[in-house]
Amino acid sequence: MRRALVLLVVLLATSLIGVRPSQAQFATCDHAYVATWDVAASGGSPAWSAGPIECVEYFRFSFRTPHGERWIRGIGDVNLDTMITPGAVRAIERGAQRAAQRFAALGEYNIENTTILMSFSTAESLANEPASGRTAAWTMAGHGTTPATQECRITMFLLDDYSVDVELPHAVAHELFHCVESGSLTVAQFEARGRADNWWIEGAAELFAAVVVGNDNVRWDRARQFREAVEEETPVYRMGYAAAVLFWWMYDQYGLEALMPLLREAPESGYPGAQRQYLREAFDDGEWLQFVKAYTNGTIRYPGMSTSRLSAPDGEIWSIDANETRRLALEPFVITLGWANYGCGRWGNSVNRANAETRQGESWQRWPAETDSRAGGARYRVAAMHTGEEPGELTLRVEGGKHAGRAWKRP
Ligand SMILES: [Zn+2]
Repeated sequence: MRRALVLLVVLLATSLIGVRPSQAQFATCDHAYVATWDVAASGGSPAWSAGPIECVEYFRFSFRTPHGERWIRGIGDVNLDTMITPGAVRAIERGAQRAAQRFAALGEYNIENTTILMSFSTAESLANEPASGRTAAWTMAGHGTTPATQECRITMFLLDDYSVDVELPHAVAHELFHCVESGSLTVAQFEARGRADNWWIEGAAELFAAVVVGNDNVRWDRARQFREAVEEETPVYRMGYAAAVLFWWMYDQYGLEALMPLLREAPESGYPGAQRQYLREAFDDGEWLQFVKAYTNGTIRYPGMSTSRLSAPDGEIWSIDANETRRLALEPFVITLGWANYGCGRWGNSVNRANAETRQGESWQRWPAETDSRAGGARYRVAAMHTGEEPGELTLRVEGGKHAGRAWKRP
C-alpha cells in the first residue's frame, strides 16, 4: 500500500513538472572520466582498465520511461571503429535501440541514464579464454548522486569473433536489462543476487535479450546448459544463466509484462531457503508441473523461434514385472524425470501425493489406478517437481501381474 502511494506521488510530480529538459546529464567523456571506469582486482578477478584512450561519443539517444526521459550513449576510443569487426559499433547502437523500444512492454520499471563503454582492451587473463567462456561485457549499477556516479555503466569487450547480427545485440540487450534490474529493484535485492548464484538476475536478462534479438543463440547455449543442470540434479535456484529456460517458459505462458512483477518479489537474501520460498510463491504446484511437462515434451521454445533445441534426459528407468514398491527421491525444485515400463499383465497402482504426473501417449495425468498391458507393454514418462522445503519422494506400489483380473490380492 505504502509503495503504491509513493509511486502515485512520483507520477504526479512528473506530470506537474512536465518533461525533463532534453539534455542528458552525462559527464564529459575525457581521460579523468574514463579512469573512473577502472576496476580493481578482487576475488580472483584481475584488475581492468580501458587505458589512456582518446574518448569520443559514438551514439546517444533518448527514450521515454514510466519515470521520465532517459538517455543511452556509447563511447570509446576515437580509433575504435577502425580496429574492430566492421559494423560492431553500429550493431551495439542498434541493439541498444531495440532494447530500449522493448522496455515499454515491461510496464512499470526504472533505469538510470546509461553509458556503454566499448573497449578493445581486455585484461590479460580475460584474453585467455576460461572454460566458462570469455567475458563479453559487465555492468556496474549506479547509485550515486552526480551524473557520473548515478549512471548505469556497461563495459563491452569487442572481442573480434562476436557476430554483429546476433551476439553483439544480444550482449548489449542483456546488459541493458541489468540496468533495468538495478534501477527497479532494491539495493539489497541487487546485492543478494551473487550469493544466490545469479540465477534470477541472469535468467531474466537472458530472456529479455532473447526477446529483443529473437534468434536462437548458440554461443551462450542455455538449452544445453539447462539439460546438463537437470542431469546433475541441480535445483532451479542453483542454475545460474541456465535458469533462462524457466524464464522462456514464463514468457510463453504470461508474456513480458509478467517479468517485472516477478522480479520485484525476488529475495533480498542469497540464502537457499529464501530462493525456495520465492519460487514457491512465484508459481503454484500445478504451474511447476506445467513447466516440467513442457520441458519434457520439448515445447518450451527459444523466444521468437518456432522450434526448440531443448531435450530432456531419461532419468531413472523402472522395469515393473512383479509386485513391488518403487521410490524416486525428490529434492526441492529439482526436475525429476523417469520412465516406468510395465511388463505384460494387469496392474494396480497406488502412488503417494507427490507433485508428479505420467504421460501415456500424448496426454499427461496423475498416475492411473490401473495399468492394463495385456495387449503389450505399457510405457509411462514420469515427471515430478517437488516444491516442499524438505526432501520428499514419489512412491509407487504395484500389485497384479500376468493373471488378469483376479491377481490384485496377494496369494
Ligand atoms: Zn548478465
